Amino acid sequence: MNRGNELEQTNISSYVGLYVHIPFCKTKCIYCDFNCYAGKNALIPDYVLALGKELVTYSDQGLVARTLYMGGGTPSLLSPSQVLYIVGTARDYLRLVDGAEITMEANPGTVSEQYFRDILAMGVNRISIGIQSFKDDDLRRLARHHTVEEALEAYRAARAAGFENISVDLIYGLPFQTLDDWRHNLSRVVDIEPDHISLYALTVEEGTPLHRLISRGKLPSPDDDLMADMYELAQEVLEKAGYIHYEISNWCRPGKQSKHNMIYWREEPFIGAGAGAYGFLNSVRYYNELLPSKYISLINNGQSPIVWQEELSVPIERSEYVILHLRLAEGVNAEEFQSRYGQSLHSFLSGKIDDVAGLGLVEWKDNYFRLTPKGRLLSNEVFVRILPD
Ligand code: SF4
Repeated sequence: MNRGNELEQTNISSYVGLYVHIPFCKTKCIYCDFNCYAGKNALIPDYVLALGKELVTYSDQGLVARTLYMGGGTPSLLSPSQVLYIVGTARDYLRLVDGAEITMEANPGTVSEQYFRDILAMGVNRISIGIQSFKDDDLRRLARHHTVEEALEAYRAARAAGFENISVDLIYGLPFQTLDDWRHNLSRVVDIEPDHISLYALTVEEGTPLHRLISRGKLPSPDDDLMADMYELAQEVLEKAGYIHYEISNWCRPGKQSKHNMIYWREEPFIGAGAGAYGFLNSVRYYNELLPSKYISLINNGQSPIVWQEELSVPIERSEYVILHLRLAEGVNAEEFQSRYGQSLHSFLSGKIDDVAGLGLVEWKDNYFRLTPKGRLLSNEVFVRILPD
């Protein structure tokens, strides 16, 4: 299978993250612009076999997977034996390390305690559950296919099955959501004591039903000031509850950072497998064919599923390195930047950030350059200044 010149040259022994995309969902939520499809579950068996074949194509590159993340879409639509096939292929062909973090995204309404027991036995050791809101009205409006009670049942089932690392997602800035509604959601999420919490601001993507409803005045646009208040409230409530705010949108119990996502934020290499998956290997970014049926055909015909790739230029790679690290509470380590790029971080930043430093959005602490709490709220103001001219 021809993967393209740059990727073929990635013949070095190195640790990578492994992302596997499962682009199937029961129904499509109105805000979703991810590469996922409802009503195509009949493709799942062929798709999983194609995924296995794609993983095998990476096996001669000396790569060692240190995390596996099955994201979607709804990976919990896979049967336990399909999950085992993916985990086993990653172990056999990408030398997935013993004790690796193996995450699966799970949606309420697709899982049971027995299902969680089965996938735990197959090596999955971290579950990420999309709860999104603790109000049924919100879930209905978003066309989520589950209720609050079903989301809680999924959470309890994962715990009862023995999962000790569970992440939950919530969205803020929902139509008609007030600050008090959000306070309620934060208090409910703290009550169930997840190990990791991801909070996402609602984004209105063009082409989604949500965008159309807002354009026609059927739903209100998100209110930026209210969302900023919601974010600040989350920082306050979760910190009081003992969570570490380790990344702009992510909080965790000590030691429960997402190891896989840390690979993205530290701009380390990762394989993206499956329809529409992104990867980053040897300074080359790439993504695969979006449509599952076309992806399956490409793989089965021995062709590369990669439809786009780009080698990052030096200025872009440095900018991305700084921006991604700024998402983390720890920030950018000046020594690591210097040893990776042979340029001092001070000289790289020179002239770019003076005004945002004056506004108190960034700071130097020891040898780290990072966002202040105020800077986290206005991170885009900082990031645009770091992009190349
Ligand atoms: S469950 Fe997730 S991936 Fe599927 S449609 Fe909803 S938001 Fe998109």
